[in-house]
Amino acid sequence: MTAPHDVNRLLVVGSGAMGSQIGMVAALAGIDTTIQDVSAEALERAEAQLRERIGSSVAKGRRTQEEAEAAFRRLSFSTDLEAAAADADYVIEAATERLDIKRQIFELLDAVTPAHAILATNSSTLGSSSVADATDRPDRVCNLHFFNPALVMRAVEIVRNPETSDKTIATSVALAERLGKRPVLLNREIPGFVANRLMGAVRDEALRLYSDGIASVEDIDTAAKDALGYPMGPFELMDLVGLDVSYLIRQATYEQTGDPADLPHPALVALYEQGHYGRKTGKGWYEYADQ
Ligand code: NAD
Repeated sequence: MTAPHDVNRLLVVGSGAMGSQIGMVAALAGIDTTIQDVSAEALERAEAQLRERIGSSVAKGRRTQEEAEAAFRRLSFSTDLEAAAADADYVIEAATERLDIKRQIFELLDAVTPAHAILATNSSTLGSSSVADATDRPDRVCNLHFFNPALVMRAVEIVRNPETSDKTIATSVALAERLGKRPVLLNREIPGFVANRLMGAVRDEALRLYSDGIASVEDIDTAAKDALGYPMGPFELMDLVGLDVSYLIRQATYEQTGDPADLPHPALVALYEQGHYGRKTGKGWYEYADQ
């Protein structure tokens, strides 16, 4: 494989659920990292949450106080994209999931980062080809897709777009490994990438078994957990993620593919239309008395 280039300075754009933890993972791995956001409040919230989370991992003995302090010394927070981007070797964009926002960020990043810098997007639904053409360096653009919570989940999907160079892939694989992650390389863009497609296939089969009257929600979840060793059953997972999220993702996938097989399952549509979104509303596939 082509030799990767060194990543000494990382920039993460967006300090939400994903960006904040991705930045922390990098700082813990010894990389000088800036987390940038347009919102100063979002940055403050991100720093407070990270300090609390890392503090509790120190208290539990999972890392030392010295490691935590050294990581926070490598991590900075900024609203100034231009300054933060000036010496970045690699950028991970984890801003709000909107194409217009992402295209604007990529266009700006292309203008203000060094020529060798790789610009990756953490998007779960947008292939990097949808932002690569906002730059003059499409060969240095790819998806680097982390899973939530990024501090814990080990897999990172690396997705090529038609113009991504071998050096970009080699650098992304080396970076993922340096972050302590396990890269999953996709040779071309496909909606849902690999992990979410696998999860979707299990969920679809679970919905079919249930709606064909083969087994109950509870028994299908039991089979997933106690026969296949999954940490949660597909119905429990849908309730945790939110049935609104599952519904909207399927709807968005259908809009991309036009394939009626991608439409949300009628049983899911029925719960969604009744406002039963899972744990967050107290009812989904299961009832949650404590909500
Ligand atoms: P989030 O809503 O928690 O955070 C998004 C952040 O982006 C906000 O703090 C917002 O202020 C900031 N932002 C908006 N516009 C910006 C701009 N122009 N410049 C800089 N910052 C800007 O979102 P999230 O859940 O962290 O998701 C971020 C990305 O990660 C999305 O592309 C999403 O598809 C992807 N992703 C999310 C998950 C997940 O489970 N949440 C998992 C994998 C990938």
